[in-house]
Amino acid sequence: MSWLLNRAMLAIFIALAGAGVGAIVGNLVDAPQLGPALGAAAAIAAWVMVDGLRALRLMNWLRGDLGREAPRDRGFWGEASYRIERALRQRDRAFTLEQERFGQFMSAIEASPNGVLLMDAGDQIQWLNAVAATHFGLDPVRDRLQRVTNLVRSPAFVAYLQAGVFDEPLVFSTPGSDSTLSVIVSRYGDGMRLVLTQDITERERTEAMRRDFVANVSHEIRTPLTVLAGFVETISSLPLTDVERERVLSLMSQQTARMTTLVEDLLTLAKLEGSPRPACDRWTPVARLFAQVESEARGLSAGRHTLRFDIQGQDELAGNDSEWISAVANLVSNAVRYTPAGGSITVAWSHRPDGNSEIEVRDTGPGIAREHIGRLTERFYRVDGSRSRDTGGTGLGLSIVKHVVQRHGGELDIQSELGRGSTFRIVVPAARVRPLAPTQPVAQEPSTVR
Ligand code: ADP
Repeated sequence: MSWLLNRAMLAIFIALAGAGVGAIVGNLVDAPQLGPALGAAAAIAAWVMVDGLRALRLMNWLRGDLGREAPRDRGFWGEASYRIERALRQRDRAFTLEQERFGQFMSAIEASPNGVLLMDAGDQIQWLNAVAATHFGLDPVRDRLQRVTNLVRSPAFVAYLQAGVFDEPLVFSTPGSDSTLSVIVSRYGDGMRLVLTQDITERERTEAMRRDFVANVSHEIRTPLTVLAGFVETISSLPLTDVERERVLSLMSQQTARMTTLVEDLLTLAKLEGSPRPACDRWTPVARLFAQVESEARGLSAGRHTLRFDIQGQDELAGNDSEWISAVANLVSNAVRYTPAGGSITVAWSHRPDGNSEIEVRDTGPGIAREHIGRLTERFYRVDGSRSRDTGGTGLGLSIVKHVVQRHGGELDIQSELGRGSTFRIVVPAARVRPLAPTQPVAQEPSTVR
């Protein structure tokens, strides 16, 4: 209230000064009674005019560009200008800050891996981020204020919105693409709805793979179990001769071995998937690896094939030696099992022109038709199921090879032609190969190949 007191005192002072001047002038013009009153009135009128001019300047500033500096007056109008200007600047700062926050919030929603779509009570799109636009095949700018049910052509989605029961998320395939979307709708504000979308194609695929895998494992285990159960039944219910009993027991032992191999391969796969990538600090001479694989391959072939093992240079391989052996042994085991007697199998180690090295397993077997090649490393994928089972295959060998190779940063390359044999190549990255130190002896270790 100090400004009010100041102004009252200023008004009194101006009136008194005007009256004083009026009295002097009144005496001079011989009007001593009127002089002070007229003087006071004239002084107050002059003050009101000056005051009005100052108010007008402030008003002009308020009406015009508020970005310019406010009029710098003294006294009441000066303080009023200063306070108005300060309030405006504070409001501008708060507004800018809010805008920044809003911008950050929108950027966060825009960067979300999930789709976000806001729509009003009439199903009109108010806003959507780029992910939602991709999921629904919409344009974030062009399709604003359009009815979403007119644009999204999925009957399942339209029916879900129209039913208005959003307790469970909706899962549907988007028309025109192979994607599967999960959609959750929440209500907010005055009839507004928030639609969150998520592309779950990969999740669904993994889930389908998991289901297939469980079904395959169950089937692979059930088959020998059924056979075993039949044999047990036969032994217990039929009077068998010693020769027959011997034969049944041998078949039972074959089935048991088959189940054991299957379980071992499953455990190997689980171990490969669950353990970290092998470090580069454990080195195995290639010659030792080849020697071990060779002795197992010769045992498996039992002289039916011509086997050749070629090693170019003396090198060591980095990583997990038993994994490397298992990968090469699986390839060689396949070559031996699928190549008919009289065929030949070559296993070679060499350096490639690109600086990497490779292990090549080549056979003169039946070859594989082109359409199967891309799927060979899938679990339980077999070109010829009965041939695979008859020779003790589980359908997991090449997936184990692929896992081992990928874990060591390499690649598996398969070339094959029907009737012309197959070539499987493991490309070993240069970082995992070094020349063998001259003094190092190459010892052999025993292991098993199926
Ligand atoms: P399996 O235990 O059945 O051999 P793999 O995963 O090792 O399983 O191989 C998958 C399939 O690839 C085999 O069932 C077989 O049909 C085919 N295959 C693998 N290696 C060869 C090969 N050297 N020659 C012909 N077919 C092969």
